[in-house]
Amino acid sequence: MEQEDKKFAEWNGIPREEISWNPTIDFDKCIGCGACLRKCTRGVYELDNKTGKLAVKNPLHCFVGCTGCKPVCPTGAISFPDKRYVDGLLKKRSLVDKEGSCCSAPPSKKGVAKSEKC
Ligand code: SF4
Ligand code: SF4
Repeated sequence: MEQEDKKFAEWNGIPREEISWNPTIDFDKCIGCGACLRKCTRGVYELDNKTGKLAVKNPLHCFVGCTGCKPVCPTGAISFPDKRYVDGLLKKRSLVDKEGSCCSAPPSKKGVAKSEKC
């Protein structure tokens, strides 16, 4: 469990709670199909037993830069911040990290902004 918590604790050396990246559901559009819940492997979504609707229960579990659940939503109810926000985080980090560790840190996953070249 400790290892799992670590996985969600930071992203590229930035404390995850300092990063505003998670899906937002427009409940005027949501039809409760559950496709987003089934798509996400990080437990971001849960069924809210009180409302009977899907909810973003663990926003900090969302992988920064991922928008994988957005296209599976049949009604366009899911939105994310602009991807340029993620680019900005990486740029800021590479400026702070000028001493050289930028070469070994940020991964370049598909759909996630690449770090600046050293
Ligand atoms: S963007 Fe990716 S990690 Fe975030 S909630 Fe959607 S599928 Fe899960
Ligand atoms: S995929 Fe879209 S419509 Fe379906 S439960 Fe999620 S937000 Fe609602």
